[in-house]
Amino acid sequence: MVFSYLKLRKQEWLTFASAMKIQEKKNLRHLSLDEIKQVLEEQGEKSFRATQVWEWIWQKGAASIDDMSNLSKELREKLKENFDLYSISVDTIQRSSDGVVKVRFKTSDNFFIEGVLIPAIDRITACVSSQVGCSLTCTFCATGLMDRERNLTHDEIFDQVVQLNKISEEQHGRRLTNIVFMGMGEPLLNYSNVIKAIDKISAPDGLVISPRRITVSTAGISKIIRKLADDKVRFRLALSLHAADDQKRSRLMPINQENNLESLTESLQYFWEKTGNRISFEYVLFEGVNDTLQDAKNLVTLCKKFQLIHVNLIEYNRVQGVPYKGLSFDKMEKFAAILEGYGLNATIRRSRGRDIDAACGQLANKK
Ligand code: SF4
Repeated sequence: MVFSYLKLRKQEWLTFASAMKIQEKKNLRHLSLDEIKQVLEEQGEKSFRATQVWEWIWQKGAASIDDMSNLSKELREKLKENFDLYSISVDTIQRSSDGVVKVRFKTSDNFFIEGVLIPAIDRITACVSSQVGCSLTCTFCATGLMDRERNLTHDEIFDQVVQLNKISEEQHGRRLTNIVFMGMGEPLLNYSNVIKAIDKISAPDGLVISPRRITVSTAGISKIIRKLADDKVRFRLALSLHAADDQKRSRLMPINQENNLESLTESLQYFWEKTGNRISFEYVLFEGVNDTLQDAKNLVTLCKKFQLIHVNLIEYNRVQGVPYKGLSFDKMEKFAAILEGYGLNATIRRSRGRDIDAACGQLANKK
């Protein structure tokens, strides 16, 4: 008995020690090109090897050092002694009857996140996550029911794009055309990683996807929207609006209590003035909550404060444990017609991937 106890303890210790050893390795993807050059020069390698490593990481989306096939085996082994890529891996793939693909990814420290591939005739969009879980508790959202575990690193966000692009090429013979940060988490609460990931995704020596084809969706944090403007980002911004009256919006999205519509309007106007980048409002229609004539009028009044704004009316998908119901398509059309009557054009977005819980608001790591 004592012996087996000791054996178990020894085994546990070995597991712990090996985990510690893995964690001791540096993330090669957190090094700049110059730092990689320096590492390789110390190994007696020529500097062009650093460019090769860089290309494997940010252009070819290598998942491990072993993938870097134009480096000698000896060099790869030497790099592996001190470095790792800590890539995320594909855990489960679910395919919807309407062509949407949901991928559950596993991080190197065993968390799960989700990304979605949404093919259409004129575009293929990847919807990616920015955090493991979310801290914002929007009352209609499946992710909001989870705890926020941690922010994703910029390379983990990048990995989702690489993996979804791979599926797009295999399945449709086409690369991704658009990326939306509408998966799990609030992107603006993981500011530096989201910005770094977008830099790598759009860089000429990265995945070369134009920032104009990238949309970051936020629940609305005024101070950080102003920071985006000051940083002169080049991507598009979407505000998850869902109600153009503070009382209703605060019930749907508690973050509205500290970031009310007046402060959001000011920060979005500032964003527009500084960047000229397109802004859109996402408005999920909930039956009996934000679908009245007065709600439509409030939305029109808010939109008229902006020079140029696009409104997407989004079909809601039932989430287990959440008390909201979506509107029928007929009623959505009627709501859109009211907006149009006041001179505001809105696009109705039908939900896709709902049979695999991949639609808007449904991402929650369900198997
Ligand atoms: S809607 Fe977005 S910000 Fe709100 S809880 Fe869900 S993931 Fe978080």
